[in-house]
Amino acid sequence: MKKPKINARYIIFVLVLLCLVTLFAACNAETESSTNAVYDINLSYDGNLTVEGVQNVCYTNNLAQPLDSLKIMLYANAYKQNAFTITDAGEAYYDGISYGNIKIDEFTVNGNETEFSLSDNEQVLSVDIPSTASGEKVDFSIKYTVTLPKCNGRLGVTQKTANLCSLYPVVCPIVNGKFVETEYSPYGDPYVADVQDFFVTLTAPDGYVLACSGKITDETQTDGTKTFEITAKNTRDFAMVLSQSFALLAKTADGVEIKYLYYDDSQPAETLGIAQNALKIFSDAFGKYPYDTYTVVQAPFVAMGMEYSSLSIIADNLPQDYLETTVVHETAHQWWYETVGTLQTSEAFVDEGLAEFSTAYYFKANGDKEKYADLYGSHKLSYAVYKAYAKANGITFDETMAKPLSDFNSSNEYVVIAYDKGALMFGWVFDILGEKKFKKAMRNFYEKYKFKIAAFSDLTECFKKYNKGLNLNPWLNGKTVI
Ligand SMILES: [Zn+2]
Repeated sequence: MKKPKINARYIIFVLVLLCLVTLFAACNAETESSTNAVYDINLSYDGNLTVEGVQNVCYTNNLAQPLDSLKIMLYANAYKQNAFTITDAGEAYYDGISYGNIKIDEFTVNGNETEFSLSDNEQVLSVDIPSTASGEKVDFSIKYTVTLPKCNGRLGVTQKTANLCSLYPVVCPIVNGKFVETEYSPYGDPYVADVQDFFVTLTAPDGYVLACSGKITDETQTDGTKTFEITAKNTRDFAMVLSQSFALLAKTADGVEIKYLYYDDSQPAETLGIAQNALKIFSDAFGKYPYDTYTVVQAPFVAMGMEYSSLSIIADNLPQDYLETTVVHETAHQWWYETVGTLQTSEAFVDEGLAEFSTAYYFKANGDKEKYADLYGSHKLSYAVYKAYAKANGITFDETMAKPLSDFNSSNEYVVIAYDKGALMFGWVFDILGEKKFKKAMRNFYEKYKFKIAAFSDLTECFKKYNKGLNLNPWLNGKTVI
């Protein structure tokens, strides 16, 4: 995500301080050979607040030992009544508080209806499966109904779009032999997933235009409805944004079809050009963008932007300068979060810090050293200002970087730690290693962990190949003075 918007009191404090110093599917032949889970999803959107889904999943046990249960995330239940997201994201609710949820209508395993249980907040579904040996596959099927909130969030009906992100039930990834349950947090992007293959059919009332992860392979119109067939292979998630207002601009560059869907942009060709340029610069610096499509989509959105596999959402109210840095930041996430998965719920600074540093680097690589220095300087200033603000207001500021999302004291603390301190740390490594070695280390990291989930320690090992004595612990534990 690009920085959440920051609260008014803090903005006033920043402005005052700035003045003083004058200066955020069923298993079938096609899927037999894949070790990715294969999601065959059939969705029907009613054009209002309801999505009906039928989802067949062919899941491979990639563990060394037999598997006899599954944990499945139901992110849509983060929008239920009494979920903490409501109070923490009030500004997303443009028409008063509105609730959403996912109701599981039927769950079958290998064709047999099966009992399941839900966690207390109904965000994690647990189900027993027949013992499945290492390398073997299990089929399960879920019928569900999603009620969308009226909200400018990841999942919701906005005033211009239907944001259908984090909508479908998804199996938790297994890290170090255990399912990682990523229950919703008001801070950060509480999503960790393995790469998967998606085959999606979406039916919506005629008139809707679709922006989505992957490639739309077919579009048909029948009896007042439009049906989209979409394929997204080897992707960490699958997201969709629908609107009756979208205009489309597209071009193909270096084998990638780049699309921009928008409704309010006086310079759409420039925005598309920023996405194209970012894909090129990051491909050259870190390793080739792995897909043949990339879509940027405008939407009413509570934060500045949000990353999904081969899809970036950009808020529709960004000033030109923020539009550019947001498109670049979200595009950088295609490398850090998407292709190389990170532990976003316990090491959020990795993908956000890398995305922010990569954004600054984009300007440097583009010949704009002044903007690079400005962005770097803005992270330093932002961090110092928040530290002073916290001190002046008696707010605890825990400068530790590697901590669970639930350990952050506020959205502001999350922003300065994950984005600002994260970017500063990677800038510090960049300066120590030098551009050439830094890029080599990042390319090694990208190649080694492509389509996997990497921990920060994995990245540190890649850096250490070029500087054995590199010690990032003072950054992580908060002792480094910024
Ligand atoms: Zn981000």
